[in-house]
Amino acid sequence: MAEFTMELNDEQKEVRDWLHGFAADVIRPAAAEWDEREETPWPVIQEAAKVGIYSLDFYAQQYFDATGLGIPMAMEELFWGDAGIALSIVGTGLAAVGVLANGTEEQIGTWIPQMYGDVNDVKVAAFCSSEPDAGSDVASMRTRAVYDEAKDEWVLNGTKTWATNGGIANVHVVVAVVDPELGSKGHASFIIPPNTPGLSQGQKFQKHGIRASHTAEVVLEDVRVPGSCLLGGKEKLDERLARAREKAKKGGERVKNAAMATFEASRPAVGAMAVGTARAAYEVALDYAKTREQFGRPIIDNQGVAFQLADMRTQIDAARLLVWRASWMGVNGKPFTAAEGSMSKLFASETAKKVTAQAIQILGGNGYTREYPVERMHRDAAIYTIFEGTSEIQRLVIARTLSGMPIR
Ligand SMILES: Cc1cc2nc3c(=O)[nH]c(=O)nc-3n(C[C@H](O)[C@H](O)[C@H](O)COP(=O)(O)OP(=O)(O)OC[C@H]3O[C@@H](n4cnc5c(N)ncnc54)[C@H](O)[C@@H]3O)c2cc1C
Repeated sequence: MAEFTMELNDEQKEVRDWLHGFAADVIRPAAAEWDEREETPWPVIQEAAKVGIYSLDFYAQQYFDATGLGIPMAMEELFWGDAGIALSIVGTGLAAVGVLANGTEEQIGTWIPQMYGDVNDVKVAAFCSSEPDAGSDVASMRTRAVYDEAKDEWVLNGTKTWATNGGIANVHVVVAVVDPELGSKGHASFIIPPNTPGLSQGQKFQKHGIRASHTAEVVLEDVRVPGSCLLGGKEKLDERLARAREKAKKGGERVKNAAMATFEASRPAVGAMAVGTARAAYEVALDYAKTREQFGRPIIDNQGVAFQLADMRTQIDAARLLVWRASWMGVNGKPFTAAEGSMSKLFASETAKKVTAQAIQILGGNGYTREYPVERMHRDAAIYTIFEGTSEIQRLVIARTLSGMPIR
């Protein structure tokens, strides 16, 4: 187990500087254009693939970094560049992690390369869990997967919504109900291979922020996939379902939900994205406050402005510390006894919303225009308190974990 550290080692610093260079030179200059176009920035993804940032190797290297700082450091730098473009770059990694975490070696080897494609023909992947009637309430999921034993195929029907890269992905990972009696314990994940008949894109959403990232409905109509597309395999699923049925029969026994532990470990990554956006807006505001003059002096000469910047930076640093702690805990298998993963996501996402709003205020009229990036950063920041569990759901998880009570 790695000791918790608040300092990046030399190798991590090198990676951070490299990522920062890419964010500053390639992502940041493209941000306004792709925000306006509201389209997937394929040329930027391709650039990222060329230098090795858009690849499983890079993602896995950060993911398995024992200090836990690899993923938060990478997310912070890329999202510092621009949140919409960065999500287009890391969205595939989020789907790939679902396969890495639950798939067999064969599934990992077969599907993850197809999620990324290659430098000359980059592809993206999507993770589809949310549904129109199942957002925060995942147990209400309706998309059904039924096993056709004669053909060793699974048949999927349902509608997914809000899927990042949904419909444009080469590979979709879809969560579906295999046993409706078991609530969220009766869910399983499936790979939907490229060009599978029956999968189509529904509505593409026009969004408030992260507009370079594609978000859409995914419709599944009699989608047939081979048995080998069930993540983890049938034997493992049958064992898991049998255990869940046994526990359900005993009744009343609280079953520790493995999915909750997975969420605790993945939420700090979203916290780190929020830290990146907040830091970007803070830096713009600090520069502006030092150079903009009113009443014959820089506006930062006023405590009313300077103290805002002091608070912004303090909150950003506090958010990063919570993110790093939770990420270290996740990588090293420490139990999240106070829902530290949710804490980090809650605090960092709320910080990003607050800090980007303050940045607009410090830039005055300029802050409110698209001539300056803080307006876009503020729109982008709003997503962090919504996806991967809203702020209210984070508070619910924290309160339940602390109290042991079924707080509603
Ligand atoms: C841009 C974007 C990208 C996304 N990408 C993906 C993706 O790739 N894959 C995917 O599967 N999903 C994705 N999502 C979906 C996202 O995870 C959901 O939007 C989120 O979980 C919230 O669900 P909901 O939108 O249905 O809101 P709801 O669950 O309907 O919540 C509405 C409001 O009610 C509050 N609320 C709900 N229940 C409670 C409660 N018990 N106590 C207190 N308050 C409560 C919520 O906090 C929220 O404020 C994405 C969403 C967006 C906007």
